[in-house]
Amino acid sequence: MVTIDPIEKGPFFHVMPGTQTFCVATAGCNLRCTYCQNWEISQKTPEETKNFDLPPATAFEQMTKRDCRSVTFTYTEPIVFYEYAVEVAAQARKRQFRAFACSGMYVKKDPLKKMCTTFDGFAGALKGFTEEFYRTVCGGKLAPVLEALVTVKEQKRWLEVVCLIIPTVNDNLDTVKQMCTWIVKSLGKETPVHFARFVPSYKMPDLPRTPIKTLERCREIALECGSQFAYVANLPGHEGNNTCCPGCRKPAIKRLGFKILENNIVRGKCSACQTPIAGLWT
Ligand SMILES: [Zn+2]
Repeated sequence: MVTIDPIEKGPFFHVMPGTQTFCVATAGCNLRCTYCQNWEISQKTPEETKNFDLPPATAFEQMTKRDCRSVTFTYTEPIVFYEYAVEVAAQARKRQFRAFACSGMYVKKDPLKKMCTTFDGFAGALKGFTEEFYRTVCGGKLAPVLEALVTVKEQKRWLEVVCLIIPTVNDNLDTVKQMCTWIVKSLGKETPVHFARFVPSYKMPDLPRTPIKTLERCREIALECGSQFAYVANLPGHEGNNTCCPGCRKPAIKRLGFKILENNIVRGKCSACQTPIAGLWT
């Protein structure tokens, strides 16, 4: 599957704002989240979906034609087509494209380190903050995910963390606070955190959408824990979609959904007070 998306959809809010990215996905995932928002492809095998060949050369031709500045492996899990993703990313960077991955980060350290040599950044999911949650809801383990997120930072790659908040399942605010404390301490206060709204899906059709107040509270908790960039995601038009300058608190980037309304970042700094704002801006 191939689509052209705004880079913001990743979500990548601190990466080349307003540019298009060339998105590639195949069927499959190494987690089994019962709420998966893309289960129609992620929870299938390649034999159960329609596929086509996309040699890297063809991908680059299309990327150039469609005015994309990057390639992003998203919608499903790039770890399951690791070799292809690493190869395309390596070739992309040789041609001055950037390469990104949206991942559940359920991957061992060594293969991830290799991935970091060919990728510019990751939108890494931190789906919950207890082993029980990962075991019972995702069919995985928390510890390797935490190690993977730290590895991306150690390898000096760009990272944005995505936390989908599901009513009654992982919305305990004490746990959210523990998670935010860990993120700031282990990944750095400059690592953006996106609190995404749950929409009923797959094996969780009966839960409500996440209340806006819950997402706002999660964002406040992250900011209280020292995070510089906490966002509300999956909720277009919310002020929590904007980037505030950590220096003067003025809006650095205003967004409406994935659209950029205003960008006051010049050469990586706030145009009002010159505070550097972390990200891959060009
Ligand atoms: Zn400022």
